[in-house]
Formats: sequence, structure tokens, C-alpha cells
Amino acid sequence: MNTLTSRSVEQVIEGVLTSDGAGVKLTRVLTGKLQRRLDPFLMLDAFGSDIPGDYIAGFPDHPHRGFETVTYMLSGRMRHRDSAGHEGLLENGGVQWMTAGRGVIHSEMPEQEDGVMEGFQLWLNLPAGQKMTAPWYQDYASHDVPEYQTREGVTVRVIAGLSGTTRGLVSREDTEPLYLDVHLPAGARFETDIPLTHNAFIYVYRGAARVNDTEINAQRMGILDNSGQGVALDAATDTRLILIAGKPLNEPIVQYGPFVMNTQEQIHQALDDFRSGHFA
Ligand code: MN
Repeated sequence: MNTLTSRSVEQVIEGVLTSDGAGVKLTRVLTGKLQRRLDPFLMLDAFGSDIPGDYIAGFPDHPHRGFETVTYMLSGRMRHRDSAGHEGLLENGGVQWMTAGRGVIHSEMPEQEDGVMEGFQLWLNLPAGQKMTAPWYQDYASHDVPEYQTREGVTVRVIAGLSGTTRGLVSREDTEPLYLDVHLPAGARFETDIPLTHNAFIYVYRGAARVNDTEINAQRMGILDNSGQGVALDAATDTRLILIAGKPLNEPIVQYGPFVMNTQEQIHQALDDFRSGHFA
């Protein structure tokens, strides 16, 4: 990448403290009002606590339809079970990718009574023609996540998409998601390509990153503008961040809680199908 084409930060987002599931405390970083700007991404939740009361209640059985959930667990243990018969344990550094498609009911429950639970859940939209696809699920242990180091000692974990010559765990044809976990030692720079077509953001979870003239501190998201074919990130201290980019679908987004469809009618159908047991 030519650094002259680096995107800049358009907006810094603090996120909203909230709780979800049976009372899990989390920060909703990508909220509903950013869905259009950050199309194809619908939601990003960051969770991180060493207080069991903040996470122990977990997310008991609940439905989803019309999109995919990508959970990246930095630290902690969470058990997934769903109505399509999938089950898996997500732990330290692991990734769970679930395509809800036409509908699943699943639970996401902690398998720890103390210690730190920290990670992210990203919602990736499905194109209109795939919203009713069959559910799919895959979990990946930490050692399955493709990883490389740059000459400057930056470690890059590639969850989705292509970074340099390293291909991530998952690729999607319509949205071409890029999902990187980047660890920069103090003083390091990391540059990566981002196709001009893609909407992109970073979320810093340790340290601080500078993009051109803007400093993004920990627990902040920086929405990148669409002006360049890549981004250059500088870290003055040891820094960890996720970088997420994807090609927008430019289709109508109608969300009702855990259902994300294209029309209100499809939302009514989802509610009817859920209530009449079609998800189970
Ligand atoms: Mn869920």
C-alpha cells in the first residue's frame, strides 16, 4: 500500500453500555444508527469483565434469522448450542462463525465461574437472496486462526478475508469481509490494503492507535473514511485492535431484535415462524 492513500478517521465512536441476553454487560459499539454507514455490518458488541456477575447469566435460548454472527473470544470459555444440532466450546483466541440464515435458536452460555471474559460479537448481514439459506456453524480453536508477523514485529491474526498473502478462516463472496486482530508493539506501524468499495472501521482494545492525525484510544471505534485503498496504523505503545472491512450490500435493512430482513413483511413472517415453532 502507498501510505499517501491511507484512509483517515471520519468519526470516533464510544459505544453504548448496555446489557443483553440474561443480563450480560457489554458495550454496543456498532449500533443500529451506524448500520447504513457500515453496511454490511449490523452490530459489534465488545464484552470484557473479570466480574462474574457481568457475564455469568449468559445468553439462554434465543432466535436469529437473516444474517451471520462472528464471535471472537480473546479470553474466557463460552458454550454454544443451537437448534440445527451444532454445539461447540469457544475459548481463548477462538472464533465461532454462525450463519443463522432462515433461522436458529441458540444459547451462548459461559463455562467459567470466575476470571476474565473478553471478546467481540460481530453481526454480518446476508444478501437478500441468502437470508433464508440453511443454518451453518463452525468453531475454530485459537491455533486454527491463520497468523503472520511483519518485519516490524506486528502480529496479524486473519479471521476473515485476505491480508498480505494470508487467507483467513472464512470468506464471503458478496461482502468480502476482512476481519483482522492486530497486535502492534510500541513504535510499530501496520499497513494493510482495503478495497475502495469497502466500508471499514477499527476498534482499539489495548493501547492507542494513530491514523493520520487522529488518535484512537482503547475502547473506541474509529470509522475510516472511504478515501483510500488502505490504512496505516501507528502505535506509540503496545496496542491491540481489530480491523473490520466489508463490501456494502446496499439493500434495505429492517431489524426487529434478533431478526434482520429486507422488509417489514419478512419480519412479521419471521415472528410467525418463530412463534409457530419453525425455528426448532
Ligand atoms: Mn445469539
